[in-house]
Amino acid sequence: MPDSHLPSADSLLSIAVDALGGSERHGQISMVKAVQQAIDAEEHLAVQAGTGTGKSLAYLVPSIRHAMDTDTPVVVSTATIALQRQLVDRDLPRLAEALAKELPHEPTFAILKGRRNYLCRYKATAGWPEDDEQDQLFDPREVSATGRMVQRIQEWADETETGDRDELVPGVSEQAWRQFSVSAQECLGATRCPSGAECFAELARARAGEVDVVVTNHALLAIDAMGDLPVLPEHDLVVVDEAHELVDRVTSVVTSELSESSVALAVRRVGRLIEQPIADQLLEAGEDLKALLAAAPPGRVDELPEVLGLTLALVRDSAARCLTALGPRGGDKDDPDRAGQRKAAFTALDEVHDTAVRMLEAYGHASEADRAEVVWLEAGTDRRPPMLRVAPLNVGGMLRDKLFGDRTVVLTSATLALGGTFDGMARQWGLGDKGWQGMDVGSPFDHPRAGILYVAKHLPQPGRDGLPQAYLDEITELIEAAGGRTLGLFSSMRAAKAATEALRERLDVPLLCQGDDSTMLLVKQFAEDEKTCLFGTLSLWQGVDVPGPSLRLVIIDRVPFPRPDDPLTSARQRHVAARGGNGFMTVAATHAALLLAQGTGRLLRSQDDKGVIAVLDPRLATARYSGFLLGSLPPFWRTTDPAVPRAALKRLAAE
Ligand code: SF4
Repeated sequence: MPDSHLPSADSLLSIAVDALGGSERHGQISMVKAVQQAIDAEEHLAVQAGTGTGKSLAYLVPSIRHAMDTDTPVVVSTATIALQRQLVDRDLPRLAEALAKELPHEPTFAILKGRRNYLCRYKATAGWPEDDEQDQLFDPREVSATGRMVQRIQEWADETETGDRDELVPGVSEQAWRQFSVSAQECLGATRCPSGAECFAELARARAGEVDVVVTNHALLAIDAMGDLPVLPEHDLVVVDEAHELVDRVTSVVTSELSESSVALAVRRVGRLIEQPIADQLLEAGEDLKALLAAAPPGRVDELPEVLGLTLALVRDSAARCLTALGPRGGDKDDPDRAGQRKAAFTALDEVHDTAVRMLEAYGHASEADRAEVVWLEAGTDRRPPMLRVAPLNVGGMLRDKLFGDRTVVLTSATLALGGTFDGMARQWGLGDKGWQGMDVGSPFDHPRAGILYVAKHLPQPGRDGLPQAYLDEITELIEAAGGRTLGLFSSMRAAKAATEALRERLDVPLLCQGDDSTMLLVKQFAEDEKTCLFGTLSLWQGVDVPGPSLRLVIIDRVPFPRPDDPLTSARQRHVAARGGNGFMTVAATHAALLLAQGTGRLLRSQDDKGVIAVLDPRLATARYSGFLLGSLPPFWRTTDPAVPRAALKRLAAE
């Protein structure tokens, strides 16, 4: 650790807070100190910091200081684009300006995304093996809509200075964008690509290597840590914000899928590059897979049926023959078009081959406790065929070895200490008992005074057949008392829609339902009109930030356990149990606690906010696991008496 001559992190914080017109916050100061200590001790840190703590400043200040001290960029990773934008458009520019005079230079920062997010100049100009056939849509309206988007991207490609997809407004479909972008595996490599010198992805990466703070997302962080090639500049400190999402995002990155379309894509790409009969064998294997998947029931595939094993082996072997027929990798230096075609063929064939191998190997375990991966069949939709997917039961080992191995990691979120302890999250991250610290810096809000947590203990348990009548009556009375101003968080879209439909007839306040319009617009409408209510499901549990009188009541219909037929969580639960643990508490209750904490966190967004959280599911008051769930929530004033929240809401409505 260099002997720093820079001002201390807490003095930099107080300069920044003064310059930004804020006030000192106890939790923020504690967090700055803890982050600085973790950096000095090269020890991982998990910080739970409630809304309003000012946690981004609390980690950015010591991070910037460290970057200047070591002349090495610090990586800040987020789960959502919204937070990424907040950091890059608001927090970092203001902070950089505030600290410019105190530090050797004004802090610099850049955003870095995966290669797919940047326009590939080579593909845009020289063309590429055509992928569009795979997405041939039968609806001609969709085809022409895609055509219009393609044209718009072409026009934008001539003007853009960054090639960043997010700057293309309005956005374009994945299908249109794919014709102008490549994955990291498909990229020819800057030295071989004719457009390498002006490649947008390469320029963004070069820029990221020169700044103090690189803002990225969890997926790219995982790819960098786990892949063979580094995609982020060299760094020794990572801050993972929205860390409660890390495991899910990492799991998505390492989940693979196999379907008739992935096989057909590989066949098309390998096209005329090899002899037809060899490509035809792969095509036939793909046809077999198609027939098999169309007839099989969706869900977990715990035991490998013989016919599926044979088909996967056929896919694997015919892909391997195509790979051999393609010849050695590389070469074609003087013919970039051919190099591009071969690279694309190798990428698609590798994907098919490696996924088939991985799926077959998922069944080689001696007992349930030794199982490492789960395979499941996902039902097809009108837009895509059924597909097999394979994912690890646990990403902790990977994270421990690759992410936490040789750098300091600071993880933070408003929700990390579930049931009052960081152990559950630490276990999921693969952290053992040593080498990390957990810290809860609390919240600047006075939860017991500002919020009531009402559990409707008298209601029946939620059933499988939609919302019970008693739930609808309870929701009606609560919303009437609040005069609207309600965010309804439902455990399924079906429940949200059913409640909206039933209550629109009973209530005389405007009632919006997720899906009526873009979620962003619905939230805006909800925030702008105090009487309006908004009902919805998952993305609202975490993504709504509406301070002020438009939100006084949050209704939660049921404890948000994962669906019992969710293949990944049910397999994880069974795996924990097979190893002697409590599968329900480790997986299902932890999942529910995290979402409940996120959902209840929608109520208090600013110092003056007040209101009620109403959980209709009586299990939060009566079940044996209720202590764990309640222990994961902020310390609201609790009641099970229906009269209390109604009276409070009426008082608030009259203010
Ligand atoms: S280097 Fe890769 S991403 Fe960049 S223009 Fe060339 S092929 Fe496209």
